[in-house]
Amino acid sequence: MTVPMEPRDRLAFARALYDDVPLYDPKRSPVALDLTDNTNLWGMPPVAERTLRELPVARITRYPSLYAAELKEALAAFVGATPDRLVTGCGSDDILDSAMRAFGEPGSVVASSEPSFAMIPIFARMNGLQYVGITELPDHQPDIDALLATKPRILYLCSPNNPTGALLSRSAIERVVREAPGVVFLDEAYAEFAGVSAVDLAMQVDNLLVIRTMSKAFGLAGLRVGYAIGAPSLVRDVEKSRGPYKLNAMAEQVALAALRHDMAWVKAHVALAVTNRDRLAAALRDRGYAPLPSHANYLCVPLARAVEVGQALRAHGVAARPFPGLPHVGDALRISVGPWELLTQFLAAFDDATADVYGWAS
Ligand SMILES: *Cc1c(COP(=O)(O)O)cnc(C)c1O
Repeated sequence: MTVPMEPRDRLAFARALYDDVPLYDPKRSPVALDLTDNTNLWGMPPVAERTLRELPVARITRYPSLYAAELKEALAAFVGATPDRLVTGCGSDDILDSAMRAFGEPGSVVASSEPSFAMIPIFARMNGLQYVGITELPDHQPDIDALLATKPRILYLCSPNNPTGALLSRSAIERVVREAPGVVFLDEAYAEFAGVSAVDLAMQVDNLLVIRTMSKAFGLAGLRVGYAIGAPSLVRDVEKSRGPYKLNAMAEQVALAALRHDMAWVKAHVALAVTNRDRLAAALRDRGYAPLPSHANYLCVPLARAVEVGQALRAHGVAARPFPGLPHVGDALRISVGPWELLTQFLAAFDDATADVYGWAS
């Protein structure tokens, strides 16, 4: 028997819809000071770090718990929910992906306010769903009428929103939950910095999934711990879609240690992030810029030719994320907040970079 050996296009093996799915590339080449990903630039809770270093070998040689029951209890206590309304995942990305798979049939509409989290259209396409982006209103609140008019099976909102930093009004969230024909995803990746949350609403209604993460305020991005709160039937469906053993044993133990013993560290560094964010905003206002009001651990600063400023910043050893052509804003730069020494370093590089690009000495 002879095997035909004509060259074939590798893509021919993949699902056709993968032709349109890019590999995620936020262009994060190494740089001395990276202010692009809104992680915790102070580090991680000390007890969590000790737990990581002292982890017994048996934790690694054996499988982790099926659905992270112990961690669900600790997270439920932290957010004011109950464990039967909690689902965990390998980062909140995993929750978003699994939940889209759970609640969308092929071709279902996923509607999202824009601008927002860049992974949403990608996860929608990966799962064979139809993504519809709806431009937000000039006050940075979602255009709820237009979102509802798409009759979405899944409606995604993010509060505080990435990249603007805007907090969505409670009345907007309540209206969406009341009127949406399907499931509402509310991404609260930065809720700790805002000090407000809709977890209480997710405890009362049957169509709201509030999605949270330990990647930002808790400083555990590398461990990949995400979770969501919703009605028991809702989180069970996400859990089926997610599958067992998705949260690794190391992540579960370290996350537990942080929640049980290091909340004071987390709260203190959230407060510092808020203080330094406002201080950075004032420093930028002194230079004539008008950062958008932010409820998160980053600032979104409207800035002409932001891509070029971003490149010039890189040449000075600092990375911040440019967003060209944001609706109602124009070009903008998103800057993660951290220790003040780092922000001083940022401001020096920013002064040099803007002088390079705009051609005046500052
Ligand atoms: C960072 C971020 C996430 C991803 O969090 P992981 O838990 O690390 O996957 C989700 N949503 C938004 C809006 C984010 O900014």
